[in-house]
Amino acid sequence: MRVLVTGAAGFLGSNLCERLLKQGHTVVALDNLQTGAKENFSDFATDASFSFVEHDVTKPFPDLGAKFDRIYNLACAASPPRYQADPVHTTLTSVLGVLHGLDLARAHNARFFQASTSEVYGDPDVHPQPESYRGNVNPIGPRACYDEGKRAAESLIFDHQRMHKTEVRVARIFNTYGPRMDPKDGRVVSNFIMQALEGKALTVYGTGQQTRSFCYVDDLLDGFIGLMEHPTESGPVNIGNPVEFTMLELAEEVTKLIGGKANVVHEALPVDDPRQRRPDISKAKAAFGFDPKYPLVDGLRRTIEYFRTRR
Ligand code: UDP
Repeated sequence: MRVLVTGAAGFLGSNLCERLLKQGHTVVALDNLQTGAKENFSDFATDASFSFVEHDVTKPFPDLGAKFDRIYNLACAASPPRYQADPVHTTLTSVLGVLHGLDLARAHNARFFQASTSEVYGDPDVHPQPESYRGNVNPIGPRACYDEGKRAAESLIFDHQRMHKTEVRVARIFNTYGPRMDPKDGRVVSNFIMQALEGKALTVYGTGQQTRSFCYVDDLLDGFIGLMEHPTESGPVNIGNPVEFTMLELAEEVTKLIGGKANVVHEALPVDDPRQRRPDISKAKAAFGFDPKYPLVDGLRRTIEYFRTRR
């Protein structure tokens, strides 16, 4: 198949491109390089089935050649410091980017996949979060550009489906980690690993009792492709690993694997930081057998190895 991946130079995008090339597809990678980097393509950049186009999805797409069969829309800064650096652009990326992708999918008769997010649940008061939960999002806080942008994107997607019969797939992604994460993007896993490798104290925000559930990238991609290739399920479908950890437990795991003392320093908790997050993945399991395989310790080992080499 001919596949377009937007946000292709990022952590998830580049891993997705590599997986699709391995499956024998032709991949057109699109990115504005705001948070992604061309170095993420280095393992497959010379593959004849791969090409890259520098473009910002807030602008209408340039001519990208022959028709696509599949469009994966992953374009959007995803770490809180990065998406809050230019919040207006973040909202427009979600809203205009998704609209441009949907219009292209309609014109090409392609299937459209949206990388949505667990952030649509905000600071959830239902735990774990099933897809039916409508969320608890602050619409005017510093996270709103991302959370509400992604919520508006979901609304556009299902309107497009109702109005134009566009074939759509919406995945709600929970915290994911693995090789090709940007060590400087401020995420908790990359921060902790880099700090431990450099012998620094691990920065725990707030008490460290807030929770997240971390999915290794290979497992997440199984979920992406499982949903994209499902004959009928449009979603939204939660994709993530349902094993939950506090940030203090994560700090301990990282320290154990890297060695050294479990040295943590507490810093201020960001505004509207969700207190807990864990996906209910029964829908993905029933629809396409989604079953994440990597326990945190195995995924962390692989990620640490990547950061050691890269450093
Ligand atoms: N966090 C932390 N130390 C860091 C970075 C993040 O304790 O150096 C916390 C953050 O406050 C949040 C959790 O880790 O509770 C996950 O943060 P991240 O930015 O990775 O993603 P989020 O799930 O908030 O989008």
